[in-house]
Amino acid sequence: MNCSNFHTHMLELIRRTSAYLPPDVTNVIETRQAFEAKGSKADLALRLVLQNIGLAKRQSAPICQDTGTINYFITTPVGFNQLDLQEICCDAVVEATAKGYLRQNSVDCITGRNTGNNLGAGSPVFHWHQHKKDTVDVRLILKGGGCENMSAQYSLPTTIGEPGGVSPRRRLDRDLDGVHGCILDAVWQAQGKGCGPGFLGVCIGGDRALGYEFAKEQLLREVDDVNPLPELAALEARIVEEANRLNIGPMGFGGNLTVGGCKIGARNRLPASYFVSVAYMCWAYRRRGVVLDESCDVVEWLYQAPGEFDNDPASRAASAAGLQTESIQLGADRKQAITLNTPLSETDVRKLKAGDVVLLNGTVFTGRDEVHKHLFKGGELEAIKGGIIYHCGPVVLEEKGKHRVVAAGPTTSIREEPYQADVIARFGVKAVIGKGGMGAKTSEACKAHGCVYLHAIGGAAQIYAACVREVKNVYWKEKFGSPEAVWELVVKDFPAVVTMDAHGRSLHAEVAESSKKELAAVL
Ligand code: SF4
Repeated sequence: MNCSNFHTHMLELIRRTSAYLPPDVTNVIETRQAFEAKGSKADLALRLVLQNIGLAKRQSAPICQDTGTINYFITTPVGFNQLDLQEICCDAVVEATAKGYLRQNSVDCITGRNTGNNLGAGSPVFHWHQHKKDTVDVRLILKGGGCENMSAQYSLPTTIGEPGGVSPRRRLDRDLDGVHGCILDAVWQAQGKGCGPGFLGVCIGGDRALGYEFAKEQLLREVDDVNPLPELAALEARIVEEANRLNIGPMGFGGNLTVGGCKIGARNRLPASYFVSVAYMCWAYRRRGVVLDESCDVVEWLYQAPGEFDNDPASRAASAAGLQTESIQLGADRKQAITLNTPLSETDVRKLKAGDVVLLNGTVFTGRDEVHKHLFKGGELEAIKGGIIYHCGPVVLEEKGKHRVVAAGPTTSIREEPYQADVIARFGVKAVIGKGGMGAKTSEACKAHGCVYLHAIGGAAQIYAACVREVKNVYWKEKFGSPEAVWELVVKDFPAVVTMDAHGRSLHAEVAESSKKELAAVL
């Protein structure tokens, strides 16, 4: 095997996967954007998503800052040395991380230490197969944590919904109707937390481990392919049609596009078991592939439009300056948007209403899981007092002694629900920026202390990187690792939607309630 050649192709595969959304996925988003009501939050979200896709491509930079779990699906000829191949893939991952194509995303569960290069026990993830051809087929899926957390597994028969709870209560049996109920329940549970519109990979059957694995493998299929099994083809179409009637919409803002595609496979099961496993994928559905011959030359790039890489921006050396000069097109929303300048006063905050679009100027502090746990347990950070916390784990490169933010979209806020109310109260936080919304405890704290929840567009990492004008400081980088550190960022024209105001109104609670009724109608 020509190793240097192979390394080059594997590095390029990571770059393309991280920065270029596949055409079949982009087509769905582009086509369906036209169906959203003009001026709606769903329309705004999809317009920013599409701009972000274009920006990532032009800058050759990550579509989303969460470059996710690195999932390789590799098929080799019989007798091929898979160990050598795995080593080369790992070397490419290390280099891609250093170049900023991948975020430092591998954390030791025992020590809590981020390995810093995306290698470690179980990362990346390799799925090996063999075929009777001479070629090596390498496919890569980068699957973010926000959407992975929304994946679900059901064991039939089961009953969904809690007695008197928020979701409709239904018994689901061991048949395709039961499978249908499980999938729609998973979509309803996800709401906007997994950066919808979502794409679903589903496995019926198998054991628990195979179920999840095969569900994820369904995401290798093209969005517009047709399942060869007529029963499953019909179910896939039905799920997409009915999920889009739930009115959960992009980012959970309400709207038409909740699910862009559903792919279902089946594995034999034990008589005692009937699992339904749902792999929820966000709109940042990053998968690419390459087929190599025996000399490691490229036979074909997969999931690629003809001529897609003819004017590849990689050769134009995307620059930091370029990142910052792209302006964000908000259209009519710009005129209606409320400009907020930090520091925010309580009066500024209490004037805001759920549904307002804002453009934020000034200083924000990133803070996510480790930071919230630390602050909740008594940690101190004077700088954030009276400030704005941004749930974000950015990709930041250090160049000539300066930090450059390469990607900086929001992370899922609900994980901070156990801590957020206390942090708002103790530090007088005036705004929390994130995505997917937060719960009743945070809503109460917003009301009591004059704080607001601003929903940024999940996955729009290039839009938000372009808003960052300066990295002023970083706290706790050594302690928690770069994505978990507190980055003090100066932003300009940072777009967001007020989804939880200081008067107790939550758009998330409203969409969950209205979509529950729609779900009851299709179950
Ligand atoms: S788009 Fe959302 S769910 Fe997907 S990787 Fe990015 S932050 Fe995570």
